[in-house]
Amino acid sequence: MADDTDIYDFLIIGGGAAGCSAAVYAARRRMNTAILTEDFGGQLMETDAIENYLGFKHLTGQEISEKYEEHVRDYEDYVDIHMTRVERVDRNDDDDLFTVTTRDETFRAHTVLIATGNSPRTLGADGEEEFNNRGISYCVVCDGPLYADEEIAIIGGGYAGCEGALFMSDVAETVYLINIGPELTGEPITVEKIPEQDNIEIINNAETTEFFGDQMLNGLRYKDTESGDVHELEVGGAFIEIGRIPNTEIVDHLDLEKTEHGHIKKDRNQRTNIDGLYACGDVTDIATEQAILAAGEGAAAALDAGRYVKEKKDG
Ligand SMILES: Cc1cc2nc3c(=O)[nH]c(=O)nc-3n(C[C@H](O)[C@H](O)[C@H](O)COP(=O)(O)OP(=O)(O)OC[C@H]3O[C@@H](n4cnc5c(N)ncnc54)[C@H](O)[C@@H]3O)c2cc1C
Repeated sequence: MADDTDIYDFLIIGGGAAGCSAAVYAARRRMNTAILTEDFGGQLMETDAIENYLGFKHLTGQEISEKYEEHVRDYEDYVDIHMTRVERVDRNDDDDLFTVTTRDETFRAHTVLIATGNSPRTLGADGEEEFNNRGISYCVVCDGPLYADEEIAIIGGGYAGCEGALFMSDVAETVYLINIGPELTGEPITVEKIPEQDNIEIINNAETTEFFGDQMLNGLRYKDTESGDVHELEVGGAFIEIGRIPNTEIVDHLDLEKTEHGHIKKDRNQRTNIDGLYACGDVTDIATEQAILAAGEGAAAALDAGRYVKEKKDG
């Protein structure tokens, strides 16, 4: 096993579907690899039902996370695992190597894979910061069970919001699904199930403007975008599910090509515009943010990085 002073062939940042898949493929190519991640499973831990991952009819986020970790640890002879947060990635022109910095350590590598996924987008409403973790949450599966038999709101009528509303309909007394548009835009199979739940009330054309309470959240105000009227809802919990933003802060100082929404651009082999720097999964301009696609991109990155390192070493 390599120690920290070695130069890794391939250094993976992120332990979600993309990063774990890359680790398995890199290990099988016998690349000297390290994976630096804060967790195994990434965003998938935020859901209690994955039913479209080929080969598994149903997995919880926790189960898939455990499976990822077990699979990567099976290759620990070839993959060093560091449970840590990366702070910065640099490329040194003098020796063509990357330096990856965490709070306590520095690693060097021929190639680096950015597989850092994305994080929840905030609403920017008044009181949102104040009541974060005091009634406001960005993860239904993690925090939803705390609101048994309460009145709660889900803000966001897309994929995650609809899924969250269904989840909470089994837990809460009433679920207000607050949607800024005229109709829900979640996955059709999920949207179809929502009217079947007696305790979900859909509020369309509603812009959430304010959260209020004392020590804990007591409610929220939203504006009807058609009439301009402001309404108040008393809720003990509010889950904000309005999309995600790519986690690129560790490479934002590099001259990396990104889309207008900040996703890293890469080619079909997951190469970015910086030589030796790869990116895959939800942090990139991936076609659709799904685990199976992220895993596929991780595999492609590892295979191409293997070719790249071999050519580099062969001169
Ligand atoms: C609520 C919800 C439900 C979903 N349901 C499904 C579903 O049913 N089916 C499906 O296919 N997809 C689903 N998805 C989408 C799926 O989770 C993502 O497409 C997939 O997880 C993307 O994988 P990834 O590896 O690119 O990123 P992520 O899963 O976001 O993983 C990123 C990894 O990077 C690590 N990381 C980030 N920054 C750093 C850093 N600076 N240093 C170290 N480590 C870092 C994180 O800890 C994490 O391990 C769902 C997503 C959500 C939020």
